[in-house]
Parts: sequence; C-alpha cells; structure tokens
Amino acid sequence: METVHHDVLVIGGGGAGLRAAIAVAEADPRLTVGVASKVYPMRSHTVSAEGGAAAVIRPDDSLDEHAYDTISGGDWLCDQDAVEVFVQEAPEEMLRLEHWGCPWGRNPDGRIATRPFGGMKLERTWYAADKTGFHLLHTLYQTSLRFPSISFHDEWFVVDLLVDKGRCHGAVAIELASGKIVALIARSVVLCTGGGGRIYPFTTNANIKTGDGMAFAYRAGVPLKDMEFIQYHPTGLPFTGILITEATRGEGGWLVNKDGYRYLQDYDLGTPEPKPVKRSMELGPRDRLSQAFVGEEEKGRTVTTQWGEVVHLDIRHLGEKLIDERLPFVRELCRKYQKIDPVRELIPVRPVVHYMMGGVHTDIDGATPVAGLFAAGEVACVSINGANRLGSNSLTELLVFGARAGRRAVREAGDAPDRPPDAALTQALDMERQIHGNLLRPAEKGERVATIREEMQTSLEAHAGIYREEEGLTTARDKLQELRDRMAGVTLDDTSLTFNTELLHYLEVRNLLDVAEAVVHSALNREESRGSHQRRDFPERNDDRFLAHSLVRRSVEGEPEVELLPVTITRWEPAERVYGK
Ligand SMILES: Cc1cc2nc3c(=O)[nH]c(=O)nc-3n(C[C@H](O)[C@H](O)[C@H](O)COP(=O)(O)OP(=O)(O)OC[C@H]3O[C@@H](n4cnc5c(N)ncnc54)[C@H](O)[C@@H]3O)c2cc1C
Repeated sequence: METVHHDVLVIGGGGAGLRAAIAVAEADPRLTVGVASKVYPMRSHTVSAEGGAAAVIRPDDSLDEHAYDTISGGDWLCDQDAVEVFVQEAPEEMLRLEHWGCPWGRNPDGRIATRPFGGMKLERTWYAADKTGFHLLHTLYQTSLRFPSISFHDEWFVVDLLVDKGRCHGAVAIELASGKIVALIARSVVLCTGGGGRIYPFTTNANIKTGDGMAFAYRAGVPLKDMEFIQYHPTGLPFTGILITEATRGEGGWLVNKDGYRYLQDYDLGTPEPKPVKRSMELGPRDRLSQAFVGEEEKGRTVTTQWGEVVHLDIRHLGEKLIDERLPFVRELCRKYQKIDPVRELIPVRPVVHYMMGGVHTDIDGATPVAGLFAAGEVACVSINGANRLGSNSLTELLVFGARAGRRAVREAGDAPDRPPDAALTQALDMERQIHGNLLRPAEKGERVATIREEMQTSLEAHAGIYREEEGLTTARDKLQELRDRMAGVTLDDTSLTFNTELLHYLEVRNLLDVAEAVVHSALNREESRGSHQRRDFPERNDDRFLAHSLVRRSVEGEPEVELLPVTITRWEPAERVYGK
C-alpha cells in the first residue's frame, strides 16, 4: 500500500484548513505540510459565504462589546475564555488578510467599511460586496501557494483517521482520479473538514458538507460537543435552500408576512439592550427569527406556495443602485434560481439549516483529547458559538482558530514517534481491504445508499428541527439505529475505480449517520430550551442543570453516551436575552 509522509497533515482546504497550513509554514518552514481535500480548495464551502466577517475596527466599538454580543447571542453557552481570545485576535487576523490582498469594502474616506449584522449591537462586519467568502478563500489560497513546504492532495477523499493508543498518526485517503488508497502518515493532523448540514434535506450547505471530520473524531473516541445546536438561517430560497444573506437585512431589508406586515415586532427576539445605532428588528439573532417564522406559520400568516410555506423578504425600498453595489450576488441568485428580480419583487424565503454550532471537542488551541489530533473551523467546537452563532463570526473563527491550531500542531509535532506503529498501518490495510475487497466487489443487488440518506434526512427534519420534543427525538433515534443496521445491506452499482461518486456517497452517508446520531442523542439529553435548541416539552432555559456543554462519545459497546461539561465563565454572568427596540 502506498504511503505518503508529511510532518503536518491538514484535512480540508477551506478557510480553516488553508489558514492552518499557512500558520504551520510560517511557524516552521522546515516542516512539510500536506493539505488533503475532497474538492479543489476553491470549491470548499467557505467560497459561498456572502455577508461578511466580524472584527472590532471602529473607534466606537470595543472588544468587550464584541465578546458580550457573542456570549449573549450564544445564550451563555460559549466558553468565555475562548471568546476573549477570539475577539482579541480577530482584528489582527482580518488586517493580515488585508495585507495578503483581500479586497475589503471601503468607506469613501478609505477606511475599512462595516455593515450591521444580526445580533451584533454595533457595526463590525467587514465585507467584500456579498462575496466575502470567495475573496477570503482566494486570498488564503494564493497566499498558501507562496510556501514551498505546503503541498496539495486535491480531490483526495479521506476515509478515516489512523489512531492507535490515544495518538493520531495520519489518515487513509482515496485518490479520486485513480481509486488508489493511500496512507497519509503525519506527526500532527489538523481536521478542517467543515460542517455537516447535509444530515437535513433542506440546507444552505453544499453537498460536500457531510460532517466527515466530526464522524472521524467520533469514531476515534473524541467527544463531539454541543451537537444538538443546529442553526436555521431565517432566509433561504424555498425551492433550493440557497442562502439569501443576512446582509440584505443588514442593509435595511424587511421581513413581512402574507399581509405585508413586519411580523417580527410581535416577537421577543432576544437582542441585547439597544444602542444608539440604526438597527432594525430584522437584525435579531437567527434562532429567534427562525422561531418567529414557525409562530407565523402556526397563526396562518405565512404565504402558501408550491414549495411550502414562506414569508417575504422585501428589499425593494433599498433601490437598484444600492442593491447592485452592495448586494449584487443576491440579485443574481434571485434572478437565476427563483426567477424574480428583488429590485421590483418580494423574495420568498423560509428558514433553512445553515450551520452547526457543535463539533469536535477542542481546547482554545484546537487540541483534541487525542494526541496529535487538532481541529479548527466549523468541524470544531472551541466553543465561541454557544447555543447560537452570530452571523459573520464564523469566517473570522476560521482565521483565528485555524492559525492557533496550526501553530499548536507545530509545537506538538516533535512529540510524535518517527515511525507510526504497525497497528496504524494495519488499520490502513484494513480500510483498503474493506473498500477494494468488499464495497467495490460486484455483489447481488442490495439496498441503495440514497434511500438511507433520504430516510435519515426526513426523520431529522421532522423530529430534530427548529422545535423538538422527547417523543419525536426518540423516534429519530430508533430510525437512525434501523438505518445503521440497514447500511450493512447496501450495495454499490458502480464498482469502477475512477471518480466513483457512488462510493463517496456511501462513505459520506456512513459519516452523516454518525453525526446525526450525535445530534439526536445530545438533543434528547438536553431537557431545556436554549438558543437554537427549543424543546416544546421543556420550554425554559435551565441554568441549574444545563449551563454546560454536551459531550457525546461512543462507548466501548458502540452506544452513544452523553455527559455534561460546565461552561467557562470569566466576566459575564448569565442573564436573560431580552429585546429592546
Ligand atoms: C451559503 C453560506 C453562506 C455563509 N455566509 C457566511 C458569512 O457571510 N459569514 C460567516 O462568518 N459565515 C458564513 N457562513 C459559514 C461559514 O462560511 C462556514 O462555517 C465556514 O466557511 C466553514 O469553513 P471551514 O474551513 O471550516 O470548512 P469548509 O469551507 O466547508 O471546508 C471544508 C474542507 O474540508 C474538505 N473535506 C471535507 N471532508 C473531507 C474528506 N472526507 N476528505 C478530504 N477533504 C474533506 C473539503 O474538501 C473542504 O476543502 C456561510 C455558510 C454558508 C453555507
């Protein structure tokens, strides 16, 4: 079996992965870095981020204000030491990106421009029109090419990690063009594989967001943290789930129901106390806005369409000039995918699964409990997002914690043995046998993997959506167990080696099922409502029992077990999220 050696292996070529790789190269140019990505780095989901990235830059803002907004927006489930590090390092990282060539929007006086964003009391969201993710990723990719120590394995699909006796020694990957299975051996491994929104059917997440890294870590015995917190974004296009960025509301867009009424005024949106800035109720945090949609639906005040119930986003009053200047992508998406022009027409929208607050349990340097294994970006839970992430904090998180994880991976690379143990190589051979010897062997026709995926997604949407309760979650839990058993009977029609996408889907569904299991078990255990986790049977937040992270891990018998880990509070005592207009 072919083996490839790197000092540091970064799995994922999105914003977090590229930032981590650059950090390694900068910290120690003698270390070789391999970046493995199942798609070309520029096709990672980061590219589709629209609205912007948050960091304090204006003189009327402060690090404490950014920290407070993040913590209260996260319903006091964020670790405050992590948030303090985050807000402190954010401006520096964003300016570094500027120096590397990121074309941040400017005010007429030449200063960095900012726009308001949901749950942020002050304007601190930097942007590059409404294609921020594209520019950010492009900047990182170009910068990464300057370092000779970084090499890329583009279109290599990582199947699983190699872990022996509590240390990670690398991973096994399929080179998609040839079907060859390769052991990627490394002293440190940084997981940057992004989120797993594809456990749901209706999501803004690209098809590739299948939670692979979360599943790898889970199978390797690393706990997943706060997995029950799934963010619904209030404004997705109803047919495709394509995101209409929060920047539309940041720029002054309104949400209206079927009567043209700005219904958010009837809801408690939980925004912190008002500040003397131009804000609207549309800029409440995403969890409350998505819940308000359900409220309107239950009152019969939503609009019935061929794609289900929707409300309308109205940006007509912003005018064509502003829309073309600040929101050109929104106009393009509406025209292309919804056949409407938002300059003149209302945009139909409904809540859509967008982001996972939870992920691989790490400390503030991205270290996991397994030696040599680190995680950063959406795959990780540091945690700065708590029970509800504020829009525009994620892109900045990729930079701050991608860099920190990269630097820590360098520091710990020296602790690794020079040769991986035989047990790790045996694991790699086993994976090769399983794929070439079992999955790609012609077999009598069994069940199709797409059926399993669909049934999983339908069950999660029905039972682990914006509102949950014990009965539904138990149904979902049993369904997932059934689907897991049925996976054994799945066969592949395509047994070829070249770009075998059916094989990838199989491996991705296996990962999705693990992620879904972690979500449902954590949701069942949390008998309270907080942020994006709303239990109809436990409608109140319960700090006495649940001011704590959920940690879910697989027991030796293969059963998920959930335990609680207290939240780190430094300076901001838990309070109610109250709305001031
Ligand atoms: C439509 C949309 C708009 C958004 N807008 C904003 C915004 O304006 N502001 C903001 O702050 N946040 C935004 N977000 C959230 C933010 O963009 C993401 O959380 C963030 O980009 C994730 O970056 P990442 O580097 O962690 O992962 P990704 O960018 O998803 O990259 C994951 C990488 O891992 C690789 N990978 C995954 N699995 C494997 C495997 N098995 N083998 C090999 N490689 C693998 C992929 O190829 C990819 O390179 C948005 C998200 C979406 C979906």
